[in-house]
Amino acid sequence: MLDSNSETLRRVLKADLHLASFDSSCWSAQVSNVFNGLQSSAMFKQKMLRATQAPMQEFICDLRFRHLKVWREADFSCPRAVNKKAVTYHKWCGSSGSGPRGSPFSIPSYLYKDLDKHVLRNFSRFKLRAHHLRVESCKWHGGSSICDKCECGEVQDEEHVLFFCKCVEVCELRMRYRDLFEGMFKTLRVFAPSSSGFIPFLTCHHSITDFEINAFLNQDSYRLLKFVSDLVSIFDTG
Ligand SMILES: [Zn+2]
Repeated sequence: MLDSNSETLRRVLKADLHLASFDSSCWSAQVSNVFNGLQSSAMFKQKMLRATQAPMQEFICDLRFRHLKVWREADFSCPRAVNKKAVTYHKWCGSSGSGPRGSPFSIPSYLYKDLDKHVLRNFSRFKLRAHHLRVESCKWHGGSSICDKCECGEVQDEEHVLFFCKCVEVCELRMRYRDLFEGMFKTLRVFAPSSSGFIPFLTCHHSITDFEINAFLNQDSYRLLKFVSDLVSIFDTG
């Protein structure tokens, strides 16, 4: 704007930049506030108020660093200890190859798959915690977050319904998609006497890591998408 061919515009802008030092309501003061939170915010503010050019590449890197703050904080949180969508997404659902951790962001590969829109929508809902599992629905319906479909007494969250819920419908679904679970369940039950047969749930004696949940949900598999979509539908019906 300082290079504008309008003398009036240049004068107005210079006056506004001058005002910024003692009037926080002027345009320049408000624009300079957008630099708050950047590592080099003082430098960027100074350059703007002096109407000098800011190093754009440095600004872009700094801006990205500020955007990633939410994921850096999520790195140190546990989805079950902190009931936050960002933490659940980061630890269990997000792809480690792109998005929050990687750079730059890219559209998840499953959205390019030739599948029914209903399946893609349900899978996205599951990953973004926009589903009707009680860990989420109790926030707006009230009541308990404990699973009402089995006797486990566990919070009805993504981890529970994927691997631990003993509800008949969910177990039947895992049986239909047993190829997705056999490897993981066999490893976890390596010392259990019943490891020879497929049991469609894990018990409270088993533990599963955030990394294993993330790897399970990031399999490049059409059947995984269909399984998760059917799972979401079971809990949609209440
Ligand atoms: Zn359950």
